[in-house]
Amino acid sequence: MTPMPRTMQTGSFRWMKSINKSIILNVIREKGPIPRAEIAKVTQLTPPTVTNIVGELLDAGIVVESDLGESTGGRKPILLRINASAFSVIGVYAGVDKIRAMSADLDGNLEGEAEVPIPPNPDRSFYIRSIIDTIHQLAAPIHHSGRPLLGIGVGMSGWVDHEQGISLSCPSLNLRNIPLRDLLEREFSVPVEVENGVRTLAMGESWFGEGREIADFICVHIGNEVNAAFVKEHSLVYSPSFTAGELGHTTVDIEGPLCGCGNRGCLEVFGSSVAMVRRAQEGLDQGVISSLNHHEGPLSERVLFEAAREGDEFARAVLVDTGRYLGIGLANIVNLFNPRRIILCGDLISEVPYVLHSLQETVEQRALATPVADVTIVPAGLGRNGGPMGAVTLVLMKLFQPQH
Ligand SMILES: [Zn+2]
Repeated sequence: MTPMPRTMQTGSFRWMKSINKSIILNVIREKGPIPRAEIAKVTQLTPPTVTNIVGELLDAGIVVESDLGESTGGRKPILLRINASAFSVIGVYAGVDKIRAMSADLDGNLEGEAEVPIPPNPDRSFYIRSIIDTIHQLAAPIHHSGRPLLGIGVGMSGWVDHEQGISLSCPSLNLRNIPLRDLLEREFSVPVEVENGVRTLAMGESWFGEGREIADFICVHIGNEVNAAFVKEHSLVYSPSFTAGELGHTTVDIEGPLCGCGNRGCLEVFGSSVAMVRRAQEGLDQGVISSLNHHEGPLSERVLFEAAREGDEFARAVLVDTGRYLGIGLANIVNLFNPRRIILCGDLISEVPYVLHSLQETVEQRALATPVADVTIVPAGLGRNGGPMGAVTLVLMKLFQPQH
């Protein structure tokens, strides 16, 4: 294979920054195998421009000539396709209790996985080191195989400045201002994309999950926090300080318990996984009848899921209640935005059906009838791989989507 231009291997995606180049690359990705003449027709670029740019993409090894196509009279045309398996990308989802990562080819096919647990309240350097170590676990076999690593995507919990690649604030970890892009580009010498957690999940769903066939949707992640991401025309919608989507800090009870943000009665203090476990513990302390009374060790969402699966009525009621609170938050979203689809991510949705069902029921009861008729609320298509897969997508987006 012809070696890649050095600018493509290191530093940035500058090499791709010719808009025509990424338009052609994207057409080959979406419609390939495709002949040059067809690319010219689809892109409305002149045949010599297409030939020149395809030549550069062939030199870089990212596009290859494949079989001959059907002849329309003369010689059979040579077809072009993306050389997806010749390159790797790494996606990292840096969460609160673990860091999960995967390597994949340019079609998003899984090549390797790694996971590193994070203890409670990690210090800053330990957390950064854990991200770097997780990436090294996947980068080493890629390096040995000789396949170029094209980039690293990182989805990080909390507020993220995706333009600068900085994790601005992660309240659940009590960490702030981590210049992740700079740190990782220095360590691995490849382009790095950083995005916040739910927006990363949304892009994974947009390319590979439940958002594939739909241009506009809202993605909601329910975990220790409750956050939303807005997708319009297949792209993320941003706000001035990158804070849009803080669904968890909308008020559902003005007299409610104190929230980490300083206000009272936020959705998060009722609908997050932490809130759910706390409510279950309060019930047990008050003497409810439940198999959980015999549980040894601290209560967790896993323990609650298990008890609910085994038929424990109290555990199921706690999950149903959680769905009810979340449904109120989502009913507000349905009324405000009239979306066609809401995609829900997180274990609370994927592990047991109780939260999802009561959430859907609550939205139907509480939101206006007209937008309710338009919306479908579905679990994420990528399940537990959503985070790392979304982070892989951050790199693929940079590579294939025309950059203006
Ligand atoms: Zn709050």
